[in-house]
Amino acid sequence: MTLHNYATQALMEITARPATVFVKGEGSWLWDHRGKRYLDFVQGWAVNCLGHSPMAIADAISQQARELITPSPAYYNDIAIALAVKLTKLSGLDEVFFTNCGAEANEGAIKLARKYGALNCDGAYEIITFDGAFHGRTLATMSASGKKAFELLFEPKVPGFPKARLNDLASVKRCIGPKTVAIMLEPIQGEAGVLPATDQFLRDLRSLTKEHGLLLILDEIQTGIGRTGKMFHYEHVGIKPDILTLGKGLGGGVPLAALLATEAASSFAHGDQGGTFNGNPLMCAAGLAVLAAVSRKDFLGSVTEKGEMLTASLAKLAKRYRLGEVRGRGLLQALALGKPVAAEVAAKAFEAGLLLNAPRPDTLRFMPSLTLTQGEIEQMAAILDEILGKAKGGAQH
Ligand code: PLP
Repeated sequence: MTLHNYATQALMEITARPATVFVKGEGSWLWDHRGKRYLDFVQGWAVNCLGHSPMAIADAISQQARELITPSPAYYNDIAIALAVKLTKLSGLDEVFFTNCGAEANEGAIKLARKYGALNCDGAYEIITFDGAFHGRTLATMSASGKKAFELLFEPKVPGFPKARLNDLASVKRCIGPKTVAIMLEPIQGEAGVLPATDQFLRDLRSLTKEHGLLLILDEIQTGIGRTGKMFHYEHVGIKPDILTLGKGLGGGVPLAALLATEAASSFAHGDQGGTFNGNPLMCAAGLAVLAAVSRKDFLGSVTEKGEMLTASLAKLAKRYRLGEVRGRGLLQALALGKPVAAEVAAKAFEAGLLLNAPRPDTLRFMPSLTLTQGEIEQMAAILDEILGKAKGGAQH
C-alpha cells in the first residue's frame, strides 16, 4: 500500500510528519504501511512504558470495556478508587484527581495552587516556573512553560508565572514576593533537552518552599512511573512535593494522567474542577495494569540497569565521534552532539529504521520502553554508530 491510499490531509497539519503511516506495534518495534519495521526509542514521547500494545494493557482494557466504560465522573467507580488508592500509597500524597493528559493535570495543579493561595495566603497566585520548562499546551500551561518558541504565541498569556533559572537558587529567591504561592518544576526538563535539576537544587527548593509557606509542585509527567529507575523521581532526592502531576507512562499509551496533592494542599470545592472523561474506569484499568507491572519485584532495578547500559553505549559513541555529554537518569537520556545536526541525524535514523527524537537542534533524546532488552540497546547503538560514522566520513577510533 502506498501513502496515497491514506487521506492524510483530513488531519490538521500541526507538525511536520514523515511520509509514513504506522499500523502496528509490539514491544520496542513499530511497523509502517509498507511493512517496514522500526526500533522505537521515542515510544510516544516516553509514554509506552511497557512498550507497544503490551498484553497486560490490552487485556485490562478489553476486560474493563465489557464491565463498565464510564458511569460519569459524578459517580464513584471501583477502578478509579483502586487506582487512586495505589497512587496515594506509592507517592505518600493523599488525594488524586484523574485527567486525560498531562497538560490538563498541570492546569489542575495551577488551579489548585491558586485556590490554596486564595484560601490560605491572602490571595497569592504567582507560581514560580523555570526557563526551558515544558508543562503542556493549554493557555495556562504554555504560560507556565519557559519554552522560547511559546514566547510570542497566543498573546496575551495567562499572568502569574515569573521565571527563574534551573539550578540557580538565587534566581528563585529573587522571584519570591507577597503574591507567590508555589514553585513548579520538572525534576528533569525533558523537552528542553533532558536537563536535570540537581538533587541538591531540588532539596533546596523543598527547604525554601517550607521556609516561605509555599507549595512545591513537581511535574513528573515525563519522569514518573519508573522512567528514572524509581517510581517517582523525587524518591532519588529524599523529598516529597505538595502537589504532583503524572501522565505519559501512567496509562502506558492510553490517555490517562493524574493530579495528586497532600491533604493540606487539596482545597477544591464542588464545581472547581471536573471533566466528562476524568477518572473513567476504562483508562484507569490501564493505569492499574501499568502499576502492577512497574511495581513487580526487580522491574525498577532493571530500568536502572538498562539505563546504565544506555549511558555506556551513548558515552562510547560520544567518545568515538568527539560529541558532547550524555545526560539524564534511568531510561530518559540525551546525547549532546556538539553541533546543530540532531534533526538530520534523527531523519537518517528514521530511514535506517530507528526512531529517535531531537528536542534541541544539537541534542538527541532517548526514551525507550522500560521493558526493552540489552540487544535492542545494542541495535540502536549500532545504527547510530553507522549514521555518525558516515557523517564523519568514517569512525575515529
Ligand atoms: N509536562 C511534561 C514534563 C511533559 O513532558 C509533557 C509532555 O511532553 C506535558 C507536561 C504535557 O503532557 P500532555 O502532552 O499529555 O498534555
